[in-house]
Parts: sequence; structure tokens; C-alpha cells
Amino acid sequence: MSNDNKLFIQKRDRVLLLHSVHFKSELYREYRDLLVKNKRITNGLVNSLPHEKQSFMRTVLRQVIREAHNEWQADESKIVEDKGEGNTDIKCSLCATGNRYIFYIKNKISGEKLNVGSDCIEDFVNDGLKLPTTIADLKKNATKIQRMFKLNSLIPDVNEKIEKWAAFLDKQPIYIPKERTKNYYDLMNTTQALYKDYLENGHKNDSVAEIAKNLETKEEYELNIERYVKQKIDVPFIVTKNIIKNLQRNGNKTALRMIESDNGFITSRTAGRVTETNFISFIINLLNTHFDKVDSSIVSMDHDRGQLVFQMKPLTRVNLYIGYQLFMEEVGMIIFGEEPIEMLTKSYLLQQSNIYESESAEIALKQMEKNLGKKFMKIAFISYNENEIIVHSRKSNQYHLCKMDNFINDNLKWAFGGDKNVDLSRSIKVMTHREYQLYREAKKVAKDMNRSINR
Ligand SMILES: [Zn+2]
Repeated sequence: MSNDNKLFIQKRDRVLLLHSVHFKSELYREYRDLLVKNKRITNGLVNSLPHEKQSFMRTVLRQVIREAHNEWQADESKIVEDKGEGNTDIKCSLCATGNRYIFYIKNKISGEKLNVGSDCIEDFVNDGLKLPTTIADLKKNATKIQRMFKLNSLIPDVNEKIEKWAAFLDKQPIYIPKERTKNYYDLMNTTQALYKDYLENGHKNDSVAEIAKNLETKEEYELNIERYVKQKIDVPFIVTKNIIKNLQRNGNKTALRMIESDNGFITSRTAGRVTETNFISFIINLLNTHFDKVDSSIVSMDHDRGQLVFQMKPLTRVNLYIGYQLFMEEVGMIIFGEEPIEMLTKSYLLQQSNIYESESAEIALKQMEKNLGKKFMKIAFISYNENEIIVHSRKSNQYHLCKMDNFINDNLKWAFGGDKNVDLSRSIKVMTHREYQLYREAKKVAKDMNRSINR
């Protein structure tokens, strides 16, 4: 007889069936009424039913329960919550057991939401409910979140302060030398480790008090850093955040190391390595007071070439290019009031410079022809297309074939009215008058052939 009083349907399965959309079907009306009327569906109760109903209860109902489980999925908005150790205030909707961990599920058809405990959720998982990870991991994560909330109520904004610790330094407009940030980063590492340990393992010793104290120290450090920034931000040659970003992008570790050992300032040894736009404008202004003394003026920086573009009187329509880094290493220290390795003279500038633009080349070449006069040198032939020039020396009656750009760049001084020696050291070929004539004829034939082919 005692067996008669035993439950035929578990309490949680009965409640589940009553929440099931499938079980609301007319097909199960009588069984539903039975479950509604009786809180306990015992063996005795089942045995008292007509034979066919007993048979249904013993065979089909098991399947219906499984299907009822399948109507539910994890509630994505909140899958599980940890209510804290020993807390059983929240009861499982199905079995009414008090539970520390509450899992939230949602009916796929009706959208009804239920909270269930750790044991009941397993029934669902066994019947195919998918969770993003294991129940154990979900519980562990819920505990972490619960601890996070708790800590946040003890120390306001603790999560944000700890997780975004380094952001304070990132947003400073200038570079802060390591000796000023070392303590700040050390404190960050210690506090982040304490915080992580608290989330993983809970409260230990005075970890909460220590975290709170560290956050106060953090604020003191930040005030100090802000004071430093205020003092230095307008000092010339201070390294800005943009300069650092630029050097990092270019992978210039040497310059970054030098800046660190120069206390966050640009010095004569780093100036040539920094090509950040604002800094270059600043440098160009400083250099121009010196360029002015040699009838020259820097107009811009060609960042692709890493060269300064400048003009020199009298040919102010000619763009001259000079390598920025080398120039800064040989002459640029003058802006720091230091003794230069090379003096800034017209001759130095013209020797180091190049012309790249055809319009500038043409002007320079015309001026060269004019300045050469007709005494001992003459430009006999120019081909811009083929980058060729032939210079005739009257003295030796020889013809020098050169690449035009080489010739121009080697003889810039001629264009600007200096030096009386023509540099032909890079000539490709030296020809007699006869050879020169043959060369010109061959060129002409080739040109005519080309023309008839292309016609
Ligand atoms: Zn339960």
C-alpha cells in the first residue's frame, strides 16, 4: 500500500506539463484536468483510473514530458544568476527548491519565462536544451558577476576604474617619461591582480580594503601626472602624443628609446628622426630664420621622399629637395644653438640638393645654358623624353653624353651662378665630333622609324 502513496509523476514534471503549450492541446484535456485537480499524482491515483487511461499514463506521458522540455530554451538576456552562498530565497519554479544558482528559461512558443534551479536545468539539458557552455562554467561565471556587483557596491565604479586604468595615460597629450609612470603601472598591475583574484576566489584577507586604498593612490598619481602635463605642454620640443604615435607606426624604436632617455623632449639627435606633421611645421619655421640668411626658404616637406622642399634666389620657381634626416644630422643642430658639423651655405645646400620636377629642371637648365656662356662649354643636345643631354667642350672638342637628371643635379651651382667648373664625372660616353654626328643621325633614324611604325 505504501507504494500507492508514491509519486507517479515527479512534482517538477507535473508543473512543467502545466506550463507546456503542447499539453494544452484538446487531445490531453482529461489528463490536464487530472493534473490541475491533483497536486500529487500518485501510483494509487493512476491505478484507480480506467485501464486505457492508465496505459496512456504509463507509455505516452513520458514522451509528452520530454516534448515539454523541448519547448524551452535558455533565456539569452540572462542565462544564470548567482544569488550568493547560502542564499535560498529564490525557489525553483518547477520543484520549489530554494536555489543559489537561478537559470532562466523561455518557452519557444509562448515566450513565457521561468526560473529553475541547478538540478532542474539538467533535465532540460539532458532533453536537448542548448547552453552556451557547461553548467559548471555558467555557474562559475555567474559567481564572478555576483562578486563584481558586490565589489561595486563597496567601491563605486571599481570595475571601470580597474579595467580602464591605462586609458588615463593614453589620453595625455604629451609623452610622459617612464620614471613618472613606473609607479602608476606597477600599482595598476598589483591592483588588477588583486581584482582578478577577488573575482575568481572571493574575498581574502583585506583584498577589498587594499583595492580601495590602491584606487586612492591611483588618483594621487594622476594628479601628479596632470600637473606635469600642465607644466610641460607648451615647452618647445616637448614630445607630443602624435609624435609618439607616428614613430610607433614607422617602427622607429631607436628614436623612441632616445626620447625616453632625453626625458620626453626632442633634442638635436632625435629631431632628424621625427617627421610628424606638426613638428615638421615647427622645425621649418625655426630653420627658415637660418635659410633666410642664404637667400633660401623651405616651403614644405615631401613626406614620401623624406626631403625638405626649398627654393633659393634667384631661381625661386625651382623646387630643390634635400634629405631631411641627413640635413638635421649635419646642420639642423643650429636650431638648438649647437655647433653644426657642416656650415649652412648656398654651396652646401646646392651640393646636397636634387631637382625632381621637370618644370624645375627646365628652368635650371635654361639658366645653366645662360650662365655657361659660349666660352668653353655648350649644351649641344637635350632630350627630356629620354633623359639625355650632350655637352660640348670647346677646349677638347669632345662631346659628353650624360643622363640629364644627373647632369642637372651635379651642376646645380651653375644654375644659381656659382662655381665655374662643370662636373661631367657621371658622363656615360665621351664622343668625338664625328661620333657625335653619327649618334645624332642614328637618333634621327630611330625616331623616324618609330614614327612610321606608330602611324
Ligand atoms: Zn527545481
